[in-house]
Amino acid sequence: MAEQTRIVVVGGGAGGLELVTKLGRKLGGKGKTDVVLVDAKPTHIWKPLLHEVATGALDQSLDEVSYPAHARTHGYRYQLGALTGLDREARKIRLAPIHDEQGTQILAERELSYDYLVLALGSVSNDFGTPGVAEHCYFLDSTTQAETFRRALLNTFLRHSDGGPGHAGKLSIAIVGGGATGVELSAELLSATEMLSSYGYSKIDRQQLDVHLIEAAPRVLPALPERIGTSVARELENLGVTIHRETMITSADENGFLTKAGERIDADLTVWAAGVRGADILSELGLTTRPNNQIRVNETLVSVDDERIFAIGDCAACPMGEDKWVPPRAQSAHQMASTVYKNLRASMDGRALKPFKYRDFGSLISLAHFDAVGNLMRGAAGRSLLVEGKLAKLFYVSLYRMHQRAIHGAFKTALKAVVDGINNVLRPRLKLH
Ligand SMILES: Cc1cc2nc3c(=O)[nH]c(=O)nc-3n(C[C@H](O)[C@H](O)[C@H](O)COP(=O)(O)OP(=O)(O)OC[C@H]3O[C@@H](n4cnc5c(N)ncnc54)[C@H](O)[C@@H]3O)c2cc1C
Repeated sequence: MAEQTRIVVVGGGAGGLELVTKLGRKLGGKGKTDVVLVDAKPTHIWKPLLHEVATGALDQSLDEVSYPAHARTHGYRYQLGALTGLDREARKIRLAPIHDEQGTQILAERELSYDYLVLALGSVSNDFGTPGVAEHCYFLDSTTQAETFRRALLNTFLRHSDGGPGHAGKLSIAIVGGGATGVELSAELLSATEMLSSYGYSKIDRQQLDVHLIEAAPRVLPALPERIGTSVARELENLGVTIHRETMITSADENGFLTKAGERIDADLTVWAAGVRGADILSELGLTTRPNNQIRVNETLVSVDDERIFAIGDCAACPMGEDKWVPPRAQSAHQMASTVYKNLRASMDGRALKPFKYRDFGSLISLAHFDAVGNLMRGAAGRSLLVEGKLAKLFYVSLYRMHQRAIHGAFKTALKAVVDGINNVLRPRLKLH
């Protein structure tokens, strides 16, 4: 019997899960290819939803995908584990030991061999080593962090509602990073405040919540077209968000932030949602990386050091012209997964690999139930069409549906849309416990 080719994908996120689903469907179960997904977590949630998990607007238990259950019906295998090392000579990766909540070891450190390796580990926010940030700020890089923030948020609202000494009056939340995460979180916080007040959970209303959105660039959403940034900023300011433009944070403490200009921005809760960098492990694998730990790949998404290793999504540094890189976005991860699927098959068949061409289909920003704004790119010339309101919201929701379709198929995605509609009627609009 001919030997099996093993493809190991590390990271089951926006890119990795779509890739193993496609590989498993087309190649898995046929005996020739063994597709294995490794992820540090047992479940997947689409990362652009994390700001909704952080405010309770989305109950993650309703949307998360169990890797073992998904693997069983999609032709691939799943292994729980965090990548800690790579032996390129032996074509093996190393996975960290697994411990239970009490710290007792359940599984020892393990090795897993591969014929092809795809790294899809995503990214985390970059605090650029700013003093006090790691200790005092909340991050939204994982469901665990989003859930930790949600609990802190509920407790802070409860404490302020008591009206005890020092807790009466305003509640203040400061967010560093005026990108999509910071902007969308600001609006979700105002929406959650309205709902908490309507449930009688808290006496704080929207007028008593100060949201500070802090951005180092001259405008919010600096990576998106200016008219989207302008439109979003106007909407946020109308809602009562204070935007601090051209404001560099030099340190954080338990009471808020200190700016480069020497001003203080005091807050009850602080969130760091700025910068993008790969996990530290990526620069410890012996592969060429950028200073932000992203793995350098060539135009076919193969590592510049090893033709058996691919990288996709936020953890990949894929050149896009002079000193420009494919942006770290869900649509990039989705498109890269499609190209790597084709290139893996080409490589196994001894055919030439195809270059990756990033296509910007536009960007959409959701401001909770208040509004949505974005642009759609049309035609080869990339003409940009501004969309707002209900239409923008529809396109925003359809992005998630596209991801669901890639991992569940059209029928299950349609069923999920129906179930979501039913849950909107049956369940509270905010997760309160
Ligand atoms: C709050 C928020 C809102 C966003 N909104 C948008 C948006 O509106 N539009 C948009 O285009 N993009 C948005 N993004 C960015 C988008 O989520 C990412 O670009 C996209 O998820 C990247 O996909 P990925 O597959 O590279 O990584 P991810 O989706 O982050 O997946 C990485 C996976 O790797 C796993 N992993 C990490 N480390 C290890 C390890 N050592 N070993 C094993 N497994 C590991 C993780 O558990 C995870 O499952 C948003 C991001 C955030 C945080």
